[in-house]
Amino acid sequence: MANRILIIEDEEKIARFIELELLHEGYEVEKCGDGRTGLELAESGGFSLVLLDIMLPGLNGLEVLRRLRRSSDVPVIMLTARDAVMDKVAGLDQGADDYITKPFAIEELLARIRLVLRRRANHEHASAPEVPDDLLICGELTLSESHHEVKYAGNEIELTGREFDLLNTLLINKNIVLSRDRLLGKVWGYDYMGETNVVDVYIRYLRSKIDEVYGISLIQTVRGVGYVIRDENEQ
Ligand code: CA
Repeated sequence: MANRILIIEDEEKIARFIELELLHEGYEVEKCGDGRTGLELAESGGFSLVLLDIMLPGLNGLEVLRRLRRSSDVPVIMLTARDAVMDKVAGLDQGADDYITKPFAIEELLARIRLVLRRRANHEHASAPEVPDDLLICGELTLSESHHEVKYAGNEIELTGREFDLLNTLLINKNIVLSRDRLLGKVWGYDYMGETNVVDVYIRYLRSKIDEVYGISLIQTVRGVGYVIRDENEQ
């Protein structure tokens, strides 16, 4: 049975764009442009996941989430219009499963949706409890955000917070080339005012802790574009 996804987003163009992509991926989709109707729809059940914008007419996304959580544990991914740390924290506090900052690449949204749905399926089947259910995998490399843990072939790799965030972003977008600007926005925030070469510096740190130690070339440079982590088994 296809997963049904509810999109609560008042910007019609964005909602339509997401809808088409989701339909293309085989999901069933319903969309709605205001908070109140969205809440009613979500409460009525039957959805595998809800994409919830924060800035909405009627009832804002955080309020929709707060009320929805009284009666439902349907997975929710928040769409935040800016890199608003407060919104993210509030959303996660109120039980959002994940969030994505606009503007986003559709591949990243699709990856996050798959991850949230897989996590939910794992919970329902209560399988393999020793494996973190948010595990990102690329060959021998694994990263768990909930455990804040990175391993290569089972060996733990110590990373700083920023290195971890950068690796996490690359892994979530596995096989997708990310520009320096995009990485900068995702990891350092879109209002970051420092040097753009900070991305290159941190890529070097990651390579020195992973690639050089294990003799691999995990993080690839795409000249003139940016960086990508590729899983050779998926090419
Ligand atoms: Ca909006």
